[in-house]
Amino acid sequence: MNPTLEIFSQGEEIVTGQTVDTNATWLSQACMTMGFTVSRHTAVGDRLDELIALLKEISTRADCCICTGGLGPTSDDLTAEAASLAFSMPLQFDAKAFEQIANFFKNRGRTMPESNRKQAYLPSGALRIDNQWGTAPGFTLQYNRCRFVFLPGVPFEMQHLFNEFVKCFFERHYALNPKQLVTLKTIGIGESDIQTAIADITIPPEIQLGFRTGPDHIETKLLAPAQYPRHKLDVFIDTIKSRLGNYIFGINDDHNHCDDLPSTIDKMMRNQQRTAIFIETISQGLMTAKCAIGNDWLLETHYQCSPERLANRFAVSFGDMDLPNQAKKIANAARIQSSADLVLIQLYQKDNTLNDKDRYITIYNALLSSEGYWHTSHAIGGPVKRKQNQAALLALDLLRRYLQNIN
Ligand code: ATP
Ligand code: MG
Repeated sequence: MNPTLEIFSQGEEIVTGQTVDTNATWLSQACMTMGFTVSRHTAVGDRLDELIALLKEISTRADCCICTGGLGPTSDDLTAEAASLAFSMPLQFDAKAFEQIANFFKNRGRTMPESNRKQAYLPSGALRIDNQWGTAPGFTLQYNRCRFVFLPGVPFEMQHLFNEFVKCFFERHYALNPKQLVTLKTIGIGESDIQTAIADITIPPEIQLGFRTGPDHIETKLLAPAQYPRHKLDVFIDTIKSRLGNYIFGINDDHNHCDDLPSTIDKMMRNQQRTAIFIETISQGLMTAKCAIGNDWLLETHYQCSPERLANRFAVSFGDMDLPNQAKKIANAARIQSSADLVLIQLYQKDNTLNDKDRYITIYNALLSSEGYWHTSHAIGGPVKRKQNQAALLALDLLRRYLQNIN
């Protein structure tokens, strides 16, 4: 039997719906994949008596519990106090925790407010979880049958502490049967089209199939029990791959790691030692922003709100050319003016439909290299921010396809 695990989110903002409880979602997936049976999610506001009651309840019914939030310095941060009262473990000053909190401020040239001293008090007998990404240390303790882990609420701090401490801690303390999780990441195809494409494939009853739609890509997830033979799982994955084809930009499993489209492109640009220029219109720098952090392969980027302005910038004239020919002309001019291997250009049909969420706009992307010229065109709908994001991603996807040699 898998150990049971509960997730408990603390904070008035969670209960009142001001903050979406992404911590619980993220932790659920991580813990389920590790082999826990996630049995319950609870959220409680800033009420000490309710927190105490809940901690006591959980201690008798779950093997493990992760609690996020409420470890900060303010008076509404009640988690350590609640744990101390629920489990009769008086709060004790932890000198090492205090030193780390003080250093956090010192290293940023700031004076530590007196209120942060509170974060150095942990329930006696708890094991501290150092937090180099924020001020609140986490901690873990055992009470009744349950191992409790308390983590800060800020998602990136929580995720770092989980990945760098909690995961190994769990692996040492529980006999876990981790599940096999394979995630196929796609771009340029909608969730319903994915479902239609794989609708007739018979899914073995042991395998759970799920979809997650994010703003930038869609994930098709396969979750199989630890003992499910890998070669059988591979056959199933291959069938899905054959249906989704080149829409798949990356796969995440035990052997491969893929975050998102920009990091996939970044890896390939570095490995293939390519350089590029981006020319954007509708996405107004978003293509660049998605890729630019820490990379030195993007030599230049230009963004203007219209092809005409780009024509001025690159000293070309269009006459009555259509969008594809305009793109070709600008791309050629840019390539002559720059030493980059690749020119990626995105234009769009400028009319009054951009701000109308119910109307579609046509975008045109082209990629020019010494080997040739490739282009795509798409109709994009929705609010202007979505149109811009999709335009940036679909242009980047043309670059991804070129780098993966699948045009
Ligand atoms: P801090 O030192 O920042 O006060 P904390 O551990 O006390 O850390 P909270 O005060 O509960 O954490 O939350 C800090 C911020 O983290 C919240 O304002 C919210 O933006 C985010 N956050 C907290 N809990 C969650 C959650 N369950 N899901 C997503 N975000 C959360
Ligand atoms: Mg707080």
